[in-house]
Amino acid sequence: MSQPKYLTGDKAGLEEFLAKFDVFLFDCDGVLWSGDHLFPKVAETIEMLRSKGKQLVFVTNNSTKSRADYKKKFDKMGIPCNVDEVFGSSYSAAVYIACILKLPAPKNKVFVLGETGIEQELNVEGVPYICGTDPAFRRDIEPEDFTDIANGSALDPDVGIVLSGLDFHLNYLKMATAFQYLQRGAIFLATNIDSTLPMAHSLFPGAGSAGAGLAKAFGKEPLSLGKPSQAMMDAVEGKFHFDRSRTCMVGDRMNTDIQFGIEGKLGGTLAVLTGVSKKEDFLAEGAETVPMAYVDQLGDLLG
Ligand code: PLP
Ligand code: CA
Repeated sequence: MSQPKYLTGDKAGLEEFLAKFDVFLFDCDGVLWSGDHLFPKVAETIEMLRSKGKQLVFVTNNSTKSRADYKKKFDKMGIPCNVDEVFGSSYSAAVYIACILKLPAPKNKVFVLGETGIEQELNVEGVPYICGTDPAFRRDIEPEDFTDIANGSALDPDVGIVLSGLDFHLNYLKMATAFQYLQRGAIFLATNIDSTLPMAHSLFPGAGSAGAGLAKAFGKEPLSLGKPSQAMMDAVEGKFHFDRSRTCMVGDRMNTDIQFGIEGKLGGTLAVLTGVSKKEDFLAEGAETVPMAYVDQLGDLLG
């Protein structure tokens, strides 16, 4: 496999690289910012790409926020962005359910393990759901719950889908209830399956780790609608209609972002070193996932 090109400080190399693409898919956390810390010259870089006529799409695996939440975050960070340019894993899952699965009502109800980002996007797509942030599910399981769940009296007969995202209030009651729906034939989806979640100072268990207990009980993995799943790539392409050969994925994480671009046969992948993966991860002999090029930070694209 050829070595990635290091573009920081290489003005001619940068120009040649940028000219290859009409569309840039941007990962968010680890590329534009880390939590609430904006990386240097991000807004200027985004403006430079727009001024060259590039189409931009912001593709995030964070299902806890909706596109509307992300738009607010972009505004707060001073990065010009239109809400339609954001494509999050909660939106990806909602679109998949509403436009691809299209289960006939009333069997299209979703049992949600997750936060408001998923609820908001399901609402936008007109998909009914239960659980999510409902306080009724945020309690300890009691002996009578086992009986009522097992005999079905505590279950909603309309649930046809279990959607697993990062749920900060995950508990045994939710897991046991979701498991019952799966055993009764519900379709098993996940917003994303990231093993870890980057937080200030440290990594935390990600959506994939939190949902792994359910997958283990069921004996089957969910279909993920987040990076690197090509179900997400198909959804993004379905909405933005781009030429994959003229599209570049920009990301900080090899096994989600860069893998997403490679599996999607995009024209290019660009890694930044401000997030989860380190350059040793892709420069090492036998590295599994290698980007086409890399820069120290996004602002280096300004040359
Ligand atoms: N999932 C959650 C819950 C997050 O908070 C984040 C980052 O903030 C991610 C996933 C990863 O997001 P991204 O794909 O933008 O790096
Ligand atoms: Ca990231």
